[in-house]
Amino acid sequence: MEGVVTPAVNPTAIEAIDLVKDYGQGDTAVHALRGVNVRFEQGRFTAIMGPSGSGKSTLMHTLAGLDSATSGRIVFDGADITKMNDNQLTLLRRHRIGFIFQSFNLLPMFTAEQNILMPLTLANERPDRRWFDQLVRTLGLKERLDHRPNELSGGQQQRVAIARALITKPSLVFADEPTGNLDSVSSAEVLSFLKQSVRELGQTIIMVTHDAVAASYADRAIVFADGNIVADVPNPTAERMSDLLMAERERATRAAI
Ligand code: ADP
Repeated sequence: MEGVVTPAVNPTAIEAIDLVKDYGQGDTAVHALRGVNVRFEQGRFTAIMGPSGSGKSTLMHTLAGLDSATSGRIVFDGADITKMNDNQLTLLRRHRIGFIFQSFNLLPMFTAEQNILMPLTLANERPDRRWFDQLVRTLGLKERLDHRPNELSGGQQQRVAIARALITKPSLVFADEPTGNLDSVSSAEVLSFLKQSVRELGQTIIMVTHDAVAASYADRAIVFADGNIVADVPNPTAERMSDLLMAERERATRAAI
């Protein structure tokens, strides 16, 4: 129809509906998530920001099925994961979810190649060599495959960890402060590779970060405060995100006085 612009919408990767997470009960209960509604599209890179204690990790852990929800639903690939038992959740995490941590978590006695292939080795599955080669190329690791972690820079180690997270072709990748232990040059390099993985390999990445510059690499940034989403920004810039975080900090300080 003329004059009507329909925004391009990718299929849903994961969606939280009225998601509530309380730790403890009664007067001492902590309301970590207060009825969160959020949808993450496939093939997009989203940053989650917000002050410490605002609920970012809780959201990530409940979405990944590592922590149970108090109420609400989490729909992943069409199934409600809040209804799954531990076995189903373990299989889901092993095959369809990848994790990237702040501390890389590589195994020191294995080479970069062995570390990348470890999730398949543990599951006794054969690697798809073409996917392996594509990952290694995208992440610039071709010349580093025989090196052990202590022979690699922090940025290179994190790129190995990214390749390891992607080797099983997960539908969804969670990154928890992936540049928290890196200097600014290595951070920029790792974030560019994450962005490239989304563009070229079609990955869906949800990244928790404190850093407004890191968030500017994402397609979208969500700001949390006190268990709720308070801002949802498409194409975030570092300036916009630091302004939003500053305003949120001021509001929290005023509320506490
Ligand atoms: P963020 O990742 O934004 O720093 P979290 O999700 O870790 O925030 O925490 C949200 C709230 O839930 C905080 O008040 C925190 O103290 C509380 N919390 C997190 N994990 C637990 C837990 N295992 N037991 C009790 N309270 C918790």
